[in-house]
Amino acid sequence: MTEMMPALFIGHGNPMNAISKNVYTDSWATFGTAIPHPKAILAVSAHWYIPGCAVTINSAPRTIHDFGGFPKELYEVEYPAPGSPELAGRVKELLYSVSVKLDESWGIDHGTWSVLTHIFPKADIPVVQLSIDSRQPPIFHYELGKRLLSLRKEGILVIGSGNLVHNLYCYVWENNGVQAFDWAVRFEKQVRELMLKGDDAQVIAYEGLGSDAMLSIPTPEHYLPLIYIIGLRRENEEISFPIEGVDGGSISMLAVRIG
Ligand code: ZN
Repeated sequence: MTEMMPALFIGHGNPMNAISKNVYTDSWATFGTAIPHPKAILAVSAHWYIPGCAVTINSAPRTIHDFGGFPKELYEVEYPAPGSPELAGRVKELLYSVSVKLDESWGIDHGTWSVLTHIFPKADIPVVQLSIDSRQPPIFHYELGKRLLSLRKEGILVIGSGNLVHNLYCYVWENNGVQAFDWAVRFEKQVRELMLKGDDAQVIAYEGLGSDAMLSIPTPEHYLPLIYIIGLRRENEEISFPIEGVDGGSISMLAVRIG
């Protein structure tokens, strides 16, 4: 029998992490060596936030450099992992009640490859991406996460890549040890406690959590991948936070591991 795979939410932060070595990237690399070898990876990235539900079906997905104004070497990064039309088909099957488009236009965006270059540097595990349907409320994404649970029993690693707190308006790009904003620290702590209690309903209904939530999540796309991951948690299953920290004052780098 295949071992139950953990599920992981990663705070990807600055795209430069892809070519940097720091406490976050070291922890990502450690994670990759500590878990059972996945058959394939399903990634839900903040950077594929579109009006529709789609899954990548290419057998050789392209590396997408979906950002601007970064050094040339970041544009030269390739993550040549194969795709998996088989996994794409399985995802479509599990999400049968929504219309899932089999997509040939997208590939692996930086939300996914900036962390996978550290977790699985060999790029030899097939990667499929699932889009985040921008038209849908948070509960929709939670329900989708729940329906993907059986993938964990089939040796598939599901990764959500975003940031629990993501406010670029306040982000200090040249962060020479800048202190985290109080509201960022408070909100991260609040959501962390809710997750430990298993209070998924409050994590989903984050819009009702007051001004700290509004400052931490000015737009939802970086938070929603976390909702998929908590949807993949079985009742009373272990939850842990293997990576912690706030970058540039307003980006939480917290990682959430289920199982
Ligand atoms: Zn991002």
